[in-house]
Amino acid sequence: MAQIRNPRLLKALRRALELAKKLTVLEQQTVQALRVEADKIIGVETEQGLIAAKRVIVTAGAWSAHLLNSVATPLAVNPVRGQMILFVTPPNLVSRIVLAKDRYVIPRRDGSVLVGSTVEPAGFDKSTTNTAREDLKSAAFKLIPRLADYTVQKHWAGLRPSSPNGVPYIGKHPNIEGLYMNTGHFRNGIVLGLASARLLADIVLERVPILEPSDYALTAERGENATIEQCRNEP
Ligand SMILES: Cc1cc2nc3c(=O)[nH]c(=O)nc-3n(C[C@H](O)[C@H](O)[C@H](O)COP(=O)(O)OP(=O)(O)OC[C@H]3O[C@@H](n4cnc5c(N)ncnc54)[C@H](O)[C@@H]3O)c2cc1C
Repeated sequence: MAQIRNPRLLKALRRALELAKKLTVLEQQTVQALRVEADKIIGVETEQGLIAAKRVIVTAGAWSAHLLNSVATPLAVNPVRGQMILFVTPPNLVSRIVLAKDRYVIPRRDGSVLVGSTVEPAGFDKSTTNTAREDLKSAAFKLIPRLADYTVQKHWAGLRPSSPNGVPYIGKHPNIEGLYMNTGHFRNGIVLGLASARLLADIVLERVPILEPSDYALTAERGENATIEQCRNEP
């Protein structure tokens, strides 16, 4: 089993985009709305005005439904908060990743130890709570008693983009020409990110797809929405 530090992954992606040269990256610009005319996408509205585009891909994580719902059938992507804590310990105090039911302990080479994570419906509230902190601490102490000698150095929260049964939406919009989505990856957006991006690129460029895309279509049958309780019990 391996681990990836997502801020570093994003930094690498940012650098790859710079090296690609043909791309323009616009940062810190909120897309306020999608612009659609006669069932075709014509661009996105930002604080700086309209950015015209024949193709638009919605990858706004837990916020994707906000963007899509104004122009199309409501999308079942909702925020599910996850909180984590981090201990700083001497290197090798914990020597391997430990998974136990709904909790995990992940040691890093520098001695820091991550403990996660909660699965909570909290709307778009990204704040941390004392209840979660204590809950994660007590799970950590049960799994690795020596962690009780160290204090929590960091505590943070993020919003996962949930979808029915955690099956992401990857593909073109059935009714709006030029509109695509790649969202709803719930607990596995890092793990599934590369393959999802590749699949969507294949669809947009009309190449032979790396895998059968129909299961991820907006209109695909996804079964019942997984409950928070079921999500907690994922291995
Ligand atoms: C505590 C925790 C632990 C996790 N652990 C794992 C794990 O071990 N493995 C794993 O694979 N996944 C894990 N995940 C899930 C993973 O983080 C998500 O599935 C993934 O981040 C989803 O990627 P995304 O790009 O779709 O959405 P996000 O990462 O949420 O990115 C969406 C981006 O869109 C931006 N945005 C939103 N609206 C707009 C707008 N209107 N205009 C412009 N920008 C906008 C947001 O600011 C954000 O930067 C974890 C999540 C949490 C919270």
